[in-house]
Amino acid sequence: MTNNDLYKGYKGGALETLKKFEALVWCDVEIITGDAMFKGIILPRSETSDHLHIVLKLISGYNIGVAADTVKNIKIFGRKEAHYKIPEKAFPYDPVKPRVKLIGTGGTIASRLDYRTGAVIPAFTPGELYGSVPELADICNLETEKLYGVFSENMGPEQWMGVANAIGKEIEKGVQGIVIGHGTDTMHHTAAALSFMVQDSPVPIVMVGSQRSSDRPSSDAALNLMHSVKTAAESDIAEVLVCMFGPTSDDYGLLHRGTRVRKMHSSYRSTFRTIGDIPVAMVSREKITPLRTDYKKRRTDNNVKINTAFEEMVSIVYYYPNMKPDIVDSLIDNGYKGIVIAGTGLGHVNKPLYPALKRARDNNIAVYMTVQTLWGYVQMYVYDTGRDMMELGVVPTANMLPEVAYVKLGWALGQTSDIEEVKKIMLTPINGEITEREPSNGYLIYQGGIPEVEAFISKHRK
Ligand code: ASP
Repeated sequence: MTNNDLYKGYKGGALETLKKFEALVWCDVEIITGDAMFKGIILPRSETSDHLHIVLKLISGYNIGVAADTVKNIKIFGRKEAHYKIPEKAFPYDPVKPRVKLIGTGGTIASRLDYRTGAVIPAFTPGELYGSVPELADICNLETEKLYGVFSENMGPEQWMGVANAIGKEIEKGVQGIVIGHGTDTMHHTAAALSFMVQDSPVPIVMVGSQRSSDRPSSDAALNLMHSVKTAAESDIAEVLVCMFGPTSDDYGLLHRGTRVRKMHSSYRSTFRTIGDIPVAMVSREKITPLRTDYKKRRTDNNVKINTAFEEMVSIVYYYPNMKPDIVDSLIDNGYKGIVIAGTGLGHVNKPLYPALKRARDNNIAVYMTVQTLWGYVQMYVYDTGRDMMELGVVPTANMLPEVAYVKLGWALGQTSDIEEVKKIMLTPINGEITEREPSNGYLIYQGGIPEVEAFISKHRK
């Protein structure tokens, strides 16, 4: 091992401090500063990082940078190079178990820390995923394929089509369930796209991700994977679902309908919520408990409708006070064919936008209204603003979520350029993207919200 590896990435003051206390990368240490003590493993640093900090992986799994010039002492307890790579394992075959296909697209669930750059990179193949969660063999025969290896901000129409076509092939081959490993950030966009591109599936299509990578003790990767594979193998829900933590604890996962789900927290593991409805089911390692009965049921045939036609020239405009019409005008000038507005309240924008909206209609551009509040319906008959906008051709989309309306509009414009036909497609629900009413208990109940709020309040209520 070269000297470079022993101090990998450290330079300047940080390197001097390590040398002074004879500490090396991968040493298990206690660092004492003027006012604190940190216990953990010294991590390598990237070539581009600063020379001021020593980075530790704490026992909690979090990384922390300790300012080198505050270090008073470093106690060393040992040294062991960590290997976060998990070996690929061939899945054991059991003829009586169902066949499930895991299609990987990337994201944190397929990631580990790259200590050269310090970033989380997509590095696990689905085979490695199995290597880290051998319990999956108790559930099914798992076949894996790495279709993409990207963070989900890089997923878009091209990849949605790729995933939809891959699903079609697998169903034709006769798999009993499909799991899609995906980054969480845009999982709800892909879930919506698949809900329109893949219709009447005979088997469950379960999207899964994780908020914390598998090298962290608080990772949700393994449990989410077990829940999703169990759902794909055993449940009778033949829909596009998102399977992620229900409450913040690891009590159970929730299965959300692909058109009603949204990522709602940037870091909680329980980030996905069904909006304006109740989730389809709960899933634990032992069982799947439906929370509703109106889902499409599993069938034994291999028939599925794959329709991936998609118009990419669609945009979503999040209205803000004082928005200027040039935002809408630039979309018109750049050849966009569809615009989804996330309006305020019941679905409003300011008056200065009206002429641009009229211009959009005159240019045969489909303009749809959704609400920023996420919960509740667009209601454009209540105020003058709404009525005026409908006269300008803006179409209300009931309780379709803004991202879902964006994806559906791209898909609808992929089917036809006839604006009236597009309207028919947009307003006819395909899989729960518009519902007749929002259940009064659908706000948070069944989603870990209420019990947690109660527990929190009871601690403070004396
Ligand atoms: N940035 C990641 C992604 O969406 C986050 C995750 O996977 O949870 O790909």
